[in-house]
Amino acid sequence: MEFGKFGGQFVPGPILKAVKEVEEAYNKYKHDETFLKDFEFYLNTYANRPSMLYFAKNMTNDLGGAKIYLKREDLNHTGAHKINNVIGQALLAKRMGKKKLIAETGAGQHGVATATAAALFNMECEVHMGAVDVAKQSLNVYKMELLGCKVVSVEEGLKTLKEAVDSALTKWSTELEDTYYLIGSVVGPHPYPTMVRDFQKIIGKEIRAQILEIENRLPDTVIACAGGGSNAIGAFYQFIKDSSVKLIGAEAAGKGLDQIGDHAATMTLGQEGVIHGMKTLVLKDKNGEIAPVYSLSAGLDYPGIGPEHAYLKEIDRVEYVAITDEEAVQAFEYLSKVEGIIPAIESAHAVAHAIKLAPKMSTDQIIVVNLSGRGDKDVKQIAKYRGLKLID
Ligand SMILES: *Cc1c(COP(=O)(O)O)cnc(C)c1O
Repeated sequence: MEFGKFGGQFVPGPILKAVKEVEEAYNKYKHDETFLKDFEFYLNTYANRPSMLYFAKNMTNDLGGAKIYLKREDLNHTGAHKINNVIGQALLAKRMGKKKLIAETGAGQHGVATATAAALFNMECEVHMGAVDVAKQSLNVYKMELLGCKVVSVEEGLKTLKEAVDSALTKWSTELEDTYYLIGSVVGPHPYPTMVRDFQKIIGKEIRAQILEIENRLPDTVIACAGGGSNAIGAFYQFIKDSSVKLIGAEAAGKGLDQIGDHAATMTLGQEGVIHGMKTLVLKDKNGEIAPVYSLSAGLDYPGIGPEHAYLKEIDRVEYVAITDEEAVQAFEYLSKVEGIIPAIESAHAVAHAIKLAPKMSTDQIIVVNLSGRGDKDVKQIAKYRGLKLID
């Protein structure tokens, strides 16, 4: 396994063959200078990197403890860190001679990112989405269509993400020759968790250079939210060897940790298991089946986690905390009011932990919060959570 006892390639025969092809291609290109130059070129000229590291002065003064910096992944093109990964994988797909990108999406964020990369690189795109999600996320469906992508509405089972994954994988297995399966986080069979981390580690690489430039020292703590775990591992990776830097992942406690189905706190309450082709920590119900999960935040609403996180928890290198819906919404409102930055509700989970932690630290200490995305997409939902009704 790639990460202690976690990782692996738990997929059936025909898909395993396609996954091996991705693995071979990634091994070939991951150190290839022109490939890496190309990747950097599109990050800098299309995705708007490097993203800024902003000293949150108002928040720091208000909380009265550690200095807080925000890594502004929300300012990337398409409004989140996801663009880093889709550019990397689309470039690899091109190198492999593939003409089409296929992906699944829950709330639609990864679908929109994949459709963006397909448009950029002149590729066909097909995104599978549960029919229930299609109905809920009509704006993202329309965005994907604008970007030239075909959205397949999946009518099987509960008509949500799980069925969308099955449907996209089945379709992929019938057209392996021309199609590349683009996974949206550090999850799935090897090499995806490693490859996606490599495409996201630019976040921590930049944080490191920027904080050394501004403060001439490393941060004491880096905090990021964790759904599948890609923005978190991206922010953490460059600091794993620096034992002085505390790394904290914030996952979704939803309505609370007491009841299965009320949260998505995989790191806090998960057990070893296999999901989506990888061995990792998984939330299970009493019968040992994958448990239903819930979070107000669509991006954190996942019953598994990237296998590298399971490993980093096991070796005690990263601490994972669970943040409730209510805490995240309060942080969403707080950052908007205090700094003029409306964060994604996912990112607000990381902000919420910083709000708890900063006052307990001294004024010469430093926290970096990875602001994985912007909150425009969430405004309507938060208004509703607060009992307001916005008129269309
Ligand atoms: C998708 C998404 C996430 C969750 O994905 P990770 O792989 O855990 O990073 C977090 N924040 C934002 C803004 C997202 O769009």
